[in-house]
Amino acid sequence: MAIKHILRSNVLTLRLLIGATSVSIIAILSIVSFLLVREHRTAELAAIRTSLNIVQLVGRDVQNTVNLYDSALNALIDVSKRSDLNSVSLPLKHMLLFDKAEQTPANGGFYLLNAQGDLVADSRTEVSPKENFSHWPSFVEHRDSNSPNLFISHPFDSAENDGICCISFSRRISGPDGRFLGVAVAQMKLDYFKTLFQRLDLEPHGFIRLISTDGTPLTQHPEPASADAHTNLSNNPVFVRFLQEHRGSFIALSSIDGDERLYNFSEVGDLPLIVVVSLATEDVFSAWRRNAILVGIGTLLLCSALLTLTWLLGRELHLRQRAERQLEALATTDPLTGLANRRKLDQTLEQEWRRAQRSGKPLSLIMFDIDHFKNFNDTYGHQDGDEALKRVARTIQQCMHRSTDLAARYGGEEFAVVLSDTDASGAYNLAQSIRQAVEQLEPLTPSHRRLTTSMGVSTRQVKPGDQLAGLINSADQALYQAKKAGRNCVISAAELS
Ligand code: GH3
Ligand code: MG
Ligand code: MG
Repeated sequence: MAIKHILRSNVLTLRLLIGATSVSIIAILSIVSFLLVREHRTAELAAIRTSLNIVQLVGRDVQNTVNLYDSALNALIDVSKRSDLNSVSLPLKHMLLFDKAEQTPANGGFYLLNAQGDLVADSRTEVSPKENFSHWPSFVEHRDSNSPNLFISHPFDSAENDGICCISFSRRISGPDGRFLGVAVAQMKLDYFKTLFQRLDLEPHGFIRLISTDGTPLTQHPEPASADAHTNLSNNPVFVRFLQEHRGSFIALSSIDGDERLYNFSEVGDLPLIVVVSLATEDVFSAWRRNAILVGIGTLLLCSALLTLTWLLGRELHLRQRAERQLEALATTDPLTGLANRRKLDQTLEQEWRRAQRSGKPLSLIMFDIDHFKNFNDTYGHQDGDEALKRVARTIQQCMHRSTDLAARYGGEEFAVVLSDTDASGAYNLAQSIRQAVEQLEPLTPSHRRLTTSMGVSTRQVKPGDQLAGLINSADQALYQAKKAGRNCVISAAELS
């Protein structure tokens, strides 16, 4: 019983061990995943915050610059409309017209054009050369549209500034009746924004870009490597999102190199400009990725260690269980015959007795003894006697077909068979078949005599108050009677009563 208890507790311990390990591994993986996801989000938010701050700063700077140009253009238009302008000296007139223009950064010249595109005033010289700029896109734009808004041109290589890349800001000059009177144009060297952007510290694969809302890239730092970076972006899905969302951040694949990038962008006030700070997610998450790899390897090692430990413990338990099973088998087996021993017989009898008491089903016991075995031993020797005992045991086993039946060596050359749920006639028949089988056993050598057995069978329909000893005694009595009756026969206890 003690061994059975140990075996049960081993199985329970093993299940607990496997359960605890599984729960621990699931918990470790969940916690690590949760922390990694949170760290990933934190890294993304930090990059967004920094980038949006840059976008805002640059946006403000761009707006201030454009405002300076715009107010210089407005001043130029206002002064140009003064009727007394032509009455002052040329230097004074020049100063009055372009006073504010002097305060604009990276100034590539302010130009006043009449309705025909003729150059009327030029900030670079007091005496304007006779030139016509009616082909300038800014002139065409204002002539053909009566919009009063500031027009920002596409970047162009300025002939007036030795081919330096410029953009122009311009406003329409209208008469009181809305008639087109000309255009005030200012050119700005794009290098100004480049210098401004160069001061910013970006991630290795990051860039900052100023784009016109019509999709024209104005300037970018660092300089784009691909020629595609200069093409109009109006059909680019990322740019379309800038226009739709006005301000914000999102992660998308770059249509230029296909890399995943974090875009942070904002429109510049109500100007037709967008500032974009774009970072490669590879840079944004590089520190996170390094940590994730380290944490992942650590977690993997921890889980492997847990699994190995569990496996080792499980194997130990398994070996212990096997040893305990073997021990149990040894403790309940007769070493000579391999049948159950007396201890196991007593246990089984107790157990089956209680079961029969509960179920009300009959319990039978056959007790038998080899006839004249002392003489057999004396004649053929103890070794042959042992061999004969083994053969009888094998024969008994071969006659029994129900797994619930038990054959045991009672002691010496005596055996017992416990038959649960078997009535008197069933037990008697089995006893007869065993007796006949033993009788028909081939002798060990032709000179040996055959063996016979005498058997006593007893059956009980167990009632309250009945004692197990009664069953054993009556089987024993029946066996005694069988011996008395001349041996090699079966006597049922029922015949005696
Ligand atoms: P009966 O027909 O009345 O049973 O005669 P018997 O000689 O069998 O009776 P008894 O009980 O006097 O003899 C039992 C003998 O069984 C004694 C012993 O020599 C033999 N014996 C008991 N245990 C063993 C054993 O383990 N090995 C061998 N070889 N012989 C045994
Ligand atoms: Mg005997
Ligand atoms: Mg005997």
